[in-house]
Amino acid sequence: MQTGSRVVVPFGAKRHYTGIVTAIYSEQTAQQDNGEGDAHEEKQKNGGKVDRAKLREVIEVSDPEPIILPSQLALWQWIAEYYLCTEGDVMKAALPAGFKIESDTLRQHYRPRTELRIRLTEAYRSPSNEAALTSACDDLKRAPKQQELLLKYLQYAEYADGLCNTEVTRHNLLEQSGLTLAHLHALLSKGILEQYEAEVSRLGNAGHQAGMLSELSPIQQTCRGQIHDAWLTHDVCLLHGVTSSGKTEIYIHLIDEAIRAGKQALYLMPEIALTSQMESRLRRAFGGRVGVYHSKFSDEERVEIWQKQLSAEPYDVILGVRSSVFLPFSRLGLVIVDEEHENTYKQQDPAPRYHARNVAIVLARQFSAKVLLGTATPSFESYYNARTGKYGLVTLGERWQSVQMPAIEVIDTAELRRKHRMSGAFSPQLLGAIRDALGRGEQAILFQNRRGYAPLMECPACGWVPRCERCDVSLTYHRRYNLLACHYCGNAYHLPPSCPACGEQRLRFIGLGTERIEEELHSLIPEARIDRMDLDTTRSRSAYERILSDFTRGNTDILIGTQMVSKGLDFAHVSVVGIMNADTMLNYPDFRSHERAYQLMAQVAGRSGRRDRQGLVILQTRSTDIPVIGQVRRYDYEGLYRSQMDERRAFRYPPFTRLIYIYLRCRDEQRLNEAATRLLSRLSEPFGTCVLGPEAPPVGRIGGLFIRKVMLKLEPSFPTRKAREFLRGIVAAMSSLSELSGINVYFDVDPM
Ligand code: ADP
Ligand code: ZN
Ligand code: ZN
Repeated sequence: MQTGSRVVVPFGAKRHYTGIVTAIYSEQTAQQDNGEGDAHEEKQKNGGKVDRAKLREVIEVSDPEPIILPSQLALWQWIAEYYLCTEGDVMKAALPAGFKIESDTLRQHYRPRTELRIRLTEAYRSPSNEAALTSACDDLKRAPKQQELLLKYLQYAEYADGLCNTEVTRHNLLEQSGLTLAHLHALLSKGILEQYEAEVSRLGNAGHQAGMLSELSPIQQTCRGQIHDAWLTHDVCLLHGVTSSGKTEIYIHLIDEAIRAGKQALYLMPEIALTSQMESRLRRAFGGRVGVYHSKFSDEERVEIWQKQLSAEPYDVILGVRSSVFLPFSRLGLVIVDEEHENTYKQQDPAPRYHARNVAIVLARQFSAKVLLGTATPSFESYYNARTGKYGLVTLGERWQSVQMPAIEVIDTAELRRKHRMSGAFSPQLLGAIRDALGRGEQAILFQNRRGYAPLMECPACGWVPRCERCDVSLTYHRRYNLLACHYCGNAYHLPPSCPACGEQRLRFIGLGTERIEEELHSLIPEARIDRMDLDTTRSRSAYERILSDFTRGNTDILIGTQMVSKGLDFAHVSVVGIMNADTMLNYPDFRSHERAYQLMAQVAGRSGRRDRQGLVILQTRSTDIPVIGQVRRYDYEGLYRSQMDERRAFRYPPFTRLIYIYLRCRDEQRLNEAATRLLSRLSEPFGTCVLGPEAPPVGRIGGLFIRKVMLKLEPSFPTRKAREFLRGIVAAMSSLSELSGINVYFDVDPM
């Protein structure tokens, strides 16, 4: 047994769990044995007495070789400690499901992929048997199809000088020869051919052409030099470069340098949708040295990538979303966090509620690797760290080939509506711009941060609104399925034929989702080819790729989407971007709402712009006078940062404080309130005025569970390690006193 191996341990009569060996103890017996055992057993820790009643036997060691490296275990421990969860939570997130073993049956999930192959039987296989083969072939004269199949086999197998030089799969043999299984079976039963099973890799990506790196422009070269300079004194460098400044090209050159130095690189992206475009860019440069890792891959594929990373020949470059920080690395030298400001880097549910950017920085530290955070709109946390000298900072203020930033035109939809000049969700300016672009053979992107048809259905007579039975939210109408859906628990409901409160027949839809925009646009510009990219249209990996490739190839004129269309994608022919409605982003009750709104709008605006003409962005809003709208229009990130940071300093929000939210969930609202009040009183002793709440979050019940939130705002002077100890201690004490029984408690550290 070794640290990092999986073992199977029984719990109770029928349950079996897979566990990971994290340490191996050798217990000294009462007689003070003479150390004989030490020769055989690794002695790593000698912590206190072992409670024998809690011991379980290991009934099987699943891995002769460890599948988890010591550095990974150390990272898991760090995550559990920092994010206030268990190491088991981290293990569940980290290990591909194929490494877990089903309870009860002990069946392993992971099966190597095999294929059936065909070969000559031993009697005909070697050069000395060539004559025998020839006569066997002649004997088949009266079964011409069988003879043909045998000859085809020899052809595909590149039979020469009595030897077969190529493996032939049964599938290919039958498909390419056009002959049938019956013919093959005849040859098998005559003992001429035989079939066998062979293991094959699912990672079929060798043989790409590689080595194609663009030459960096002088500005990009300077920038690369500055990054290296920053790395002399800092482990982490923030690259603040406007959209399309060529950040990605710089990343590729840095990865190339890392590989040449014999190191591995990890390239983190915020969204699976982005990986396929990036994969092809990376493959052009690094070919089969790139491995891609994310949850849309099958479990088997993920297990194989994991194992490849443990092998002597791991991928040099891993491209992945947040879970790729859990992969085994042996010689990591560089971590790139692309679009570092994206909140999808933070896992919301379930635990571990980790931030992959921050975990990546810890991962890099384990290897003394360098980190580059890249974005056009830095998170305030990272920008603050860069401005205060904790990170290096490099700025790239110009687009590649000096292409102009798009012009942003702000449209007052409130006024246009008063004047009846809106066509549904579209201002005349936006419609005109789209028509012009399409007329020139260019494309448009429309951004609306809500999926579905309409976020609200309402009875015009009495104001009744359909709500989820299990959550405290109103339901979103989806026209395609003609259903009302809850975006929190996923429940779907039929449309009521009339208002259940007053009987009114004509219920109306309020608000704007991507589906409704698509429908309106179809009737406004019937000749346009329109596609939509949101959670509903991209459930499968192939759907993402189809939508993106259709748009890239120009088979689609207009792409409508949620924030999925805002991120880092590079399209050459988009000259117009429409932000349908900025107000929903601005009105969200959160201290980050303006930071987020700016990021979203600046990012989606960045999709516009061509080499030959300045791009155009039409920003529709009712709140034209809110400062952030002007800041977006002027690309005034600094202005946004200054004004928002003043507020954060005054109201004690991050990065000036650290936040930890404590959530309690329970079916019984009264019990929940009592528990929350008790928790609050216990917290107020160590934390004093740093504790706030309890309050119900904006959605106070999800899936039948009521939710309360207690907020800790820790001043920098408060030692965070101590805070964590208090929190764990208090929750453990309350659990054992049954004050929290039946109540689910969890922490969200650095919530987003
Ligand atoms: P960013 O990552 O900053 O948004 P990209 O790296 O995607 O920018 O660059 C934007 C566009 O400019 C891409 O189409 C890219 O291929 C092109 N580009 C950037 N730098 C170069 C370069 N040095 N040589 C050739 N093309 C470049
Ligand atoms: Zn009604
Ligand atoms: Zn619900």
